Amino acid sequence: MSAPDASSPAPSPSVRVRFAPSPTGFLHVGGARTALFNWLFARHHGGKFFLRIEDTDRSRSTDAAIEAILDGLTWLGLDWDAWEKSPGPGPVRQTERLALYQFKARQLLDEGKAYRCYCPAEELDARRKAALARGEVPKYDGRCRAVAEADESRPFALRFKTPQEGETVVDDLVKGRIVFENRQLDDLIILRSDQSPTYNFCVVVDDVDMAITHVIRGDDHLNNTPRQIQLYRALDFPLPRFGHLSMILGSDKARLSKRHGATSVQTYRDMGYLPEALVNYLVRLGWSHGDQEVFTREELIAKFSLDNLTASAAVFSLEKLQWLNATYLKTVEPKSIAPLVQDLLAKRGAGDAASPGRIEEVFLAHRERSKTLVDIADAVMMYVPGQRVIDAEAEKKFLTAPALPALGRVHTLLRDAPFTKDAHEHLFATLMTETGQKMATLAQPLRVALTGRSVSPGIYDVLRLLGKDEALARIESAIRLIEGGSTAHAPS
Ligand code: GLU
Repeated sequence: MSAPDASSPAPSPSVRVRFAPSPTGFLHVGGARTALFNWLFARHHGGKFFLRIEDTDRSRSTDAAIEAILDGLTWLGLDWDAWEKSPGPGPVRQTERLALYQFKARQLLDEGKAYRCYCPAEELDARRKAALARGEVPKYDGRCRAVAEADESRPFALRFKTPQEGETVVDDLVKGRIVFENRQLDDLIILRSDQSPTYNFCVVVDDVDMAITHVIRGDDHLNNTPRQIQLYRALDFPLPRFGHLSMILGSDKARLSKRHGATSVQTYRDMGYLPEALVNYLVRLGWSHGDQEVFTREELIAKFSLDNLTASAAVFSLEKLQWLNATYLKTVEPKSIAPLVQDLLAKRGAGDAASPGRIEEVFLAHRERSKTLVDIADAVMMYVPGQRVIDAEAEKKFLTAPALPALGRVHTLLRDAPFTKDAHEHLFATLMTETGQKMATLAQPLRVALTGRSVSPGIYDVLRLLGKDEALARIESAIRLIEGGSTAHAPS
């Protein structure tokens, strides 16, 4: 066995990374993975992880989306650092920084690195359509580059003078060296005529201002990178390292989307996944450490390195996530799950169905056969008096007339004996002798009577969790059900 991470570079506290979501919807699992890789990289190096909300597109950004992002990151345990220049610990918000972008755009104009473009929007649109009709890639023709006289009485946008010769090389940490021809790059608008700054410009101004050292993001941004590199140069700032993560795909190898199932972190929480399990699952979508599958958070921080990011796209597998979640449920500290289950119960309007202690008890009995916290919440509800729902198939198979005598006998014995595990063991031993039936044969109708299901923890655990009165009431109701059913179906 080799020494852990012998080949990794020594931690560098100067690492500064960011997660920069556009708040246009929920926190997507792809976004969460990007945040996680940045967070792990920063924590591994003892560096900084910032959160920047890219909300300059006001028509698409919402406060609800910002809430969902903060909420999702907090639930996953991905805490962000306060930026030194921020007034408070909250995330950096681009809409609060408009004056800086405007100032920087003007600076580029003054330095001759940007120019005023007077072309009206309709004209640009017409030229764009004409280019498309000719089968060309639309690109601004640069005509306003040549306008010498500044006329600030007319509306104008500021365009960046993108170099048209040579190449821009992206030396990507994940994908390797990628070369872009500069003549394919447009003269990017950096400030619109209404003074609003544009997306790529804000990103670069912020990454410069925040002294970001590594830009790790989805490869859907790869085409922005050569434009951004040119802006870095114009702003006279050294380039960060770029790393573009491959997309997460669905089982059909198309980009993961709603039609493959849930894509929002919030939904996985509602489906009863543990944040640790989702973190562990997401990290393996594009990163590996040998063939290890299960990692504690501390191990992830210790072992994470950008060297082990995979360039090929990862396929999302709900089965694997479920397997990981079930694995975590088997070992998680029971105390820590009670509040999570309580949240799920509260969402069903049953927040006061069980105390934390009770949830822990049910959890301990059910963890081995549960995949999610929803299974645990269902189990908690199942023991609540009056809340048993009998599964139709289990009823048909096990709550039948031949089961009646034994159920009746169990009822009597349970009623008359002390309600302890020893007494229950004795009771079943008696019953097996009396009937000549095996425990499994006797237990199955009783299990359905008590829990409504054909699969449950051991009968003694179930009895203990139900308590005497509820156990007896459920057996009585099952007997009535069978009797009612057999009367209904009896030949007249
Ligand atoms: N705001 C971009 C997004 O949500 C990310 C930009 C970046 O990381 O550079 O996709």
